[in-house]
Amino acid sequence: MSASGGREYLAIPGPSVMPDAVLRAMHRASPNIYAGELPDMMPELISGLKAVARTEQNATIYIANGHGAWEAALSNILAEGDQALGIYNGRFGVGWAEVARGLGAEVIPLDCGLKTPATGEALEAALRADTAGKIKVVLCTHVDTSTSVKNNIAEMRAAIDAAGHDALLAVDCIASLGCDHFEMDAWGVDVMVAASQKGLMVPPGLGFVFFSDKAAAVRAAMPRVSLYWDWTPRANPQAFWQYFAGTAPTHHLYGLQASLEMLHSEGMEAVWARHARMAGAIWAACETWGQGGPLKLNVAERTHRSCAVTALHIGVEHGLRLRQWTEGEAGLTLGIGLGMSTPEDPEGNGFFRIGHMGHINAQMVMGTLGSIEAAFSSLNVPRGSGALEAAAAALA
Ligand SMILES: *Cc1c(COP(=O)(O)O)cnc(C)c1O
Repeated sequence: MSASGGREYLAIPGPSVMPDAVLRAMHRASPNIYAGELPDMMPELISGLKAVARTEQNATIYIANGHGAWEAALSNILAEGDQALGIYNGRFGVGWAEVARGLGAEVIPLDCGLKTPATGEALEAALRADTAGKIKVVLCTHVDTSTSVKNNIAEMRAAIDAAGHDALLAVDCIASLGCDHFEMDAWGVDVMVAASQKGLMVPPGLGFVFFSDKAAAVRAAMPRVSLYWDWTPRANPQAFWQYFAGTAPTHHLYGLQASLEMLHSEGMEAVWARHARMAGAIWAACETWGQGGPLKLNVAERTHRSCAVTALHIGVEHGLRLRQWTEGEAGLTLGIGLGMSTPEDPEGNGFFRIGHMGHINAQMVMGTLGSIEAAFSSLNVPRGSGALEAAAAALA
């Protein structure tokens, strides 16, 4: 007899848990898109988004997932034949570079492996090697969701400046926005992309592109930008439809209004601190399990880990069975390994991820960890003892 009845918990790194307040806000009749409440709420939504991104510059919304936000951002700054530098710490860094190549740009890779962030020295050296100054933009994930590596964005900016290079700094915050501390303006970020379904707690469907005035100047010098992706009218609309180059994502906007209200009434500092505290409990449990068995956190050093997602390795004999057990027996869906396949494990089944982004609290984290402990017990997975006590102590 399964114990999975009751409310399910999707603990994967996006889509994340949707708050009831978001769902309630979306559960309504179609609003008028020509006048009234919906157009009227746009200035507040845009300023709420800018406050999450910590920018006073430009914000745009696209009806898109994260891949769409990637393409939207790059369509405004990369023309055929342009060069970009792509920092890789996992599948998502590589994926963004593939979008740049699809637009006809050449991407120089800076591969940092799957377990460690990029260093300022490596970026500075790569930019110094570009003596002709051809690299137009540095593409960097804040958090690569596949590996849970977190890059130090202020360090990337300092490296660009130290190299005396003029490249834009473009950062993918799709996993991290609203979870890990991020400061667009203070850290000198020129372009930032995000999406609705992770730390922002809204269903998939909205992509966000924030850009600096310096990036706007790069856009202005482009030979052409396709009408739909052009960020200029979206950031400076003369009419409501121009925010979206067409019909508005009506219900998502109501969901977003509710989620921004939640984030700002908690306060961004408190939101980041909550995520750090939850992550600390998860890491304490995982480190303890790992002391007496095969479980390993992908990222060794705490300061290199995201507070939104934790990537783990447990070996191919246990990984798939663990995820099947928690889903079937406990109503808890854990994330699959992504971009982690090896010749011995072509499906990457020895890897899994715990998503801990967005609308989560201590009892959800303890329930997740307790369910994993129950799975280990049922499946006879060797492990260190005291993991749940360690998590509880980390929370206390
Ligand atoms: C989820 C994610 C993406 C892709 O977003 P989609 O909505 O699946 O297209 C890209 N980058 C990062 C860092 C992500 O976490």
